[in-house]
Amino acid sequence: MTEWSTWLADESATVALGECLAEQLAHCSGCISVHLDGDLGAGKTTLTRGVLRYFGHSGAVKSPTYTLVEGYELPARTVYHFDLYRLGDPEELEYMGIRDYFADNSLCLIEWPVRGAGILPEPDLTAALKVQAGGRLVMLEAHTDTGAAVLAAMPA
Ligand code: ADP
Ligand code: MG
Repeated sequence: MTEWSTWLADESATVALGECLAEQLAHCSGCISVHLDGDLGAGKTTLTRGVLRYFGHSGAVKSPTYTLVEGYELPARTVYHFDLYRLGDPEELEYMGIRDYFADNSLCLIEWPVRGAGILPEPDLTAALKVQAGGRLVMLEAHTDTGAAVLAAMPA
């Protein structure tokens, strides 16, 4: 399966989708990368909060707008949450040692991946969010076999 979409009525539905996605991602081995597309306020950080909650982080999730990345060492996985909104040049990712984050068993969730185009590796999945009818429309798209397996396991 290469595409999966649904409409999310409210914030709690976005968090729940993040948890559901994380449950499928937890079955994957190796490094997984998910790109989060959508305007400011689309719900990218909210979705990330759901993923982190599934993996055991119950605290707040602040977008790392100035630091670019926040790491969460959780029992099952290390999750890196990127927000590249303020990245000036994709080359800066090389200086911050971007390759080290895409290491064994890490999960990389990346807001504003377009800012890192050309340097970021191809993601396993893209989640595109947009405001629709007071809620959010989310479209998940797989780019690798791992991504396709995750989408195939998502509930209908
Ligand atoms: P982004 O990271 O894309 O800029 P956020 O995750 O910070 O966006 O979310 C922005 C706002 O959207 C938050 O106030 C959040 O509560 C709200 N939100 C998230 N999901 C939904 C939804 N499905 N319906 C309505 N509001 C939502
Ligand atoms: Mg955000």
